[in-house]
Amino acid sequence: MNYNKKTVKDVDVKGKKVLLRCDFNVPMAKDGSGVITDDKRIRAALPTIQYLLDQGAAVIACSHMGKPEPSFEKWAKKQAEKGKDPASLTKEKWEKSLEALCMEPVAKRLGELLGRDVVLASDVVGPDAQAKAAALQSGEIMLLQNTRFEKGETKNDPELAKAMADLAGSDGVYVSDAFGAVHRAHASTAGVAAYLPAVSGFLIQKELDFIGGALANPKRPLVAILGGAKVSSKIGVINNLLEIADTIIIGGGMSYTFAKAQGGTVGDSLLESDWLDYCNEMIAKAGEKGVKLLLPVDTVIADKFAPDADSKVVPNGQIPDGWQGLDIGPETVKLYCGAVKDAGTVIWNGPMGVFEFEKFAVGTKAVAEALSETDAITIIGGGDSAAAVQQLGYAEKMTHISTGGGASLEFMEGKELPGVACLLDK
Ligand code: ADP
Ligand code: MG
Repeated sequence: MNYNKKTVKDVDVKGKKVLLRCDFNVPMAKDGSGVITDDKRIRAALPTIQYLLDQGAAVIACSHMGKPEPSFEKWAKKQAEKGKDPASLTKEKWEKSLEALCMEPVAKRLGELLGRDVVLASDVVGPDAQAKAAALQSGEIMLLQNTRFEKGETKNDPELAKAMADLAGSDGVYVSDAFGAVHRAHASTAGVAAYLPAVSGFLIQKELDFIGGALANPKRPLVAILGGAKVSSKIGVINNLLEIADTIIIGGGMSYTFAKAQGGTVGDSLLESDWLDYCNEMIAKAGEKGVKLLLPVDTVIADKFAPDADSKVVPNGQIPDGWQGLDIGPETVKLYCGAVKDAGTVIWNGPMGVFEFEKFAVGTKAVAEALSETDAITIIGGGDSAAAVQQLGYAEKMTHISTGGGASLEFMEGKELPGVACLLDK
C-alpha cells in the first residue's frame, strides 16, 4: 500500500464545501443522559477542522457512533436472539435505541471546543442535511446525523456515497481524518472518494507518517514488542513484522502458548492449543530469517485471576497446576528493556501482562518506562496498549500513540486499509 497520500495542505479548499469524515465515536454514559465520558476523539479532530475553517472552507462533518440497527425488523430479530421477550420489542424501544446514538451531544461538545455554532442536521443525506449543506457558508461547520442510521453505510452503497458527496457540491472536497475507521470500506470512509477528490486530514497523515514510515522504511534496528491476550488475534501482526523487524519480543498472555509449544508446562495460563504448531513455525522462521526472537525467561504466576491473588516468580514454562501466568518476570523485564535500549524504532502492540491489576502491571510498566527512556522512535498500536501506556503515565514520552485500535492492528498486519487506499496519491 502506498502511504504517501495527499493531505489537506495539497488542495485548495477556499470557498469550497468539504465533506469531513471524523471519528466521533465517543463513549457515552450508560444511563442515556447523553453525557460524553471521554471527548478525546473530538479534541483530536480540532486541528484539521480549525485548519479547514481558517482556509475558508465550509465544513460538513460526519461520523458514525456505536452500532445502531437501522431496520426495525432486524433490530427486533437480534434482540430476540439475545433472549429478549418478543412482546417487549416495540417500535418505541427501537427508536429509543437509535436516539441514544444521535449526534446531538457531539455537536454540542464540538461547538464548545471550537467556540462557535455547529449546525446539526437531523438526517444524513435527507432533506434537512441537503438544505443545511446548501446554506452553509465559508468558515461555518455543520454535522450530519450518525452515518450508520443509513442502511447503505456499512454496505458501502454507492448511492449513499454519491448522496453524501453531493452535499459538498460539484467542486467539493472529501477529507478523511477518521483513522479509527479506515480499516472499514464503508460509504463515508471509502465510497465517497469515488465522487470527490479525496485527501487526508492531519490525524491520518500522522498515522501514515509514523506507522507507515516504521513499516516501509524504519530507522534500524527495528524492535517489535508483541503481547496481549491471544496468539490468534496477533498472527497477522507477527507474520508481517517477521518480514520487517530485526528483533521480535513476545510477552503477555500469548507467550504461554509459545512456552507450551516448546515443551513447557503452563498450568492454568491462557493457552490456545490450536496454535502450538504455529508458534514453533514462527520460532523456526525467525531463525531462518535471522530475526532475533526473544521469549520470556521467567514469569509471575498467580493462584487466581484477581487483583489480590497470591503471586510468585517461576522460570518460564514451569508453571504448576492451579497457577497461571499474569505478567513477565523480573529477569525477562531486564532482557526486554535491554533490547530496546539501542533500537532505532520500537513498535509495541500488546501489554506484557494483566496491567489492569496493579500487581501484574509491573512488566508492562517497566517496558513503557524503557521506551520512554530510549532515543528510538516509539510507536504504540492497539487499543489496550494505548490505554495501558496512558494509564501508566507514559503517553507524553512516546513518539506516536495510534488513535485507531483495530485500524492500527490491520496497518501493522500490512493489510490494505480501504479508507487510506481511496485517498489521492501524492
Ligand atoms: P491491544 O488491544 O493493544 O491489541 P490485546 O487486546 O491483544 O491488546 O490484549 C490486551 C489484553 O491482554 C489486556 O486486557 C490484558 O489484561 C490481557 N493480557 C495480557 N497478558 C495476559 C495474561 N498473561 N493473561 C491473561 N490476559 C492477559
Ligand atoms: Mg484489544
